[in-house]
Amino acid sequence: MIVEMRRGSSEAEVEEVVQRARSLHLDVQMNLGTEKTVVALLGSNTGQVDSDMFAVLPGVESVTRIMRPYKLASREFKPEDSKVQIDGLSIGDSRIVVMAGPCAVESEEQLLEAARAVKDAGASILRGGAFKPRTSPFSFQGLGEKGLELLAQARDEVGLPVITEVLDTQHVELVSRYADILQIGARNMQNFNLLTEAGKTRHPTLLKRGLSATVTEWLAAADYLLAQGNTQISLCERGIRTFEDTARFSLDICAIPVVKKNSHLPLIVDPSHAAGHYSLVPAIAKAAVAAGADGLIIEVHPNPKEALSDGLQALTPSDFARLMKELQPIAASLGRTI
Ligand code: PEP
Ligand code: MN
Repeated sequence: MIVEMRRGSSEAEVEEVVQRARSLHLDVQMNLGTEKTVVALLGSNTGQVDSDMFAVLPGVESVTRIMRPYKLASREFKPEDSKVQIDGLSIGDSRIVVMAGPCAVESEEQLLEAARAVKDAGASILRGGAFKPRTSPFSFQGLGEKGLELLAQARDEVGLPVITEVLDTQHVELVSRYADILQIGARNMQNFNLLTEAGKTRHPTLLKRGLSATVTEWLAAADYLLAQGNTQISLCERGIRTFEDTARFSLDICAIPVVKKNSHLPLIVDPSHAAGHYSLVPAIAKAAVAAGADGLIIEVHPNPKEALSDGLQALTPSDFARLMKELQPIAASLGRTI
């Protein structure tokens, strides 16, 4: 249930709403918007609560029930766009944020070379997996904590904040110590314990869409992070499983305007995992920007032929630099920069 306060309502009036919610054993999340305050009343028993219990309180403009399965990620709760702040960088603003780097951290030389190349080409965040979710247990699983140390070194030497995946609850604290942004991978989108633990850190977090998840399920998963009071959440469309098998996954281009319409959260697109092949990545990246994505996350490897994971979909540094230039007029046509 959403309680919208009147413009100019007092703190005491908001507090009365909160107290009444608590007395009914409801959880409360607040959006202190620039225009007006919105109070979300949450809990499995909201259905039994009469909305008039809140409508009669002073300062309340309206009370509505959100019928969607997701609440805090919805624009009903927060009409204005959210922005995620990282080191002076803002995801969800007019500047399109590009995150780039290798699929996996493999060595100091590989990571530093990738980091310098993507920075020179205009990327503002370095990606690299230290804990890798691999389809086969016999594939390279990542360097673990050593990989996190290399990411921290690259951040210091090259000056880019880093994003890296956290695979399970046990590692949330460890990965948060090194990462500027936690990545929750497609295979973990509905790992609710992991989402809750990541939410508790209040650390910027990127939630990838599950391989077979609907947009609604994905936004409901984002609610797990938001429900812990973590407002620094971005979403990532990375392609879903369909009957089509000529690319690795099917990038759901429709999901971009659908998510932007229904949710206030910034949306990043990963053309690399959708494509599965480097030759497809530039076209998909351009389409994503044209469709309204707030950012891109792209795999770039100094030597894709030698990559220990996802080499086929990695761009070379020079292909990445070319793509960054080609994206500029597309961003400009939308009144954005990249
Ligand atoms: C990745 O970013 O390297 C990755 C494994 O992505 P996804 O979870 O989207 O498959
Ligand atoms: Mn990958």
